[in-house]
Amino acid sequence: MDCLFCKIIAGEIPSSKVYEDDMVYAFNDIDPQAPVHILIIPKEHIASVNEVNESNSAVVAHIFEVAAKLAKEKGLEDGYRIVTNIGDDAGQTVKHLHFHMMGGRSFGWPAG
Ligand code: AMP
Ligand code: ZN
Repeated sequence: MDCLFCKIIAGEIPSSKVYEDDMVYAFNDIDPQAPVHILIIPKEHIASVNEVNESNSAVVAHIFEVAAKLAKEKGLEDGYRIVTNIGDDAGQTVKHLHFHMMGGRSFGWPAG
């Protein structure tokens, strides 16, 4: 499958790894939008939230457990933002489910 993030998980494309376990992989975004900008992704290929269902949703819960752990490690006690883009209107460029975890600055709302 021609998926950039599957290739990153497989080690075929280099990445700056932050965390890994049997279900998820986390790495620094190549084009950071904040002092901390980590992408947390499932190792299983899931195209977006639209493909989340009863059989694969456990990994989404686990991703948020990892986010909470990384927030402590990265010292984000003042807050941070988690974003997932779905489809063209949201600007999803990589069709492998990923959660942007951004912190180290304040953010406006509503986004974009
Ligand atoms: P999205 O636009 O929500 O699909 O997010 C895709 C993200 O992947 C963007 O923030 C990109 O900067 C990031 N990205 C693309 N290629 C790489 C790469 N090789 N390593 C790390 N991050 C990447
Ligand atoms: Zn993939």
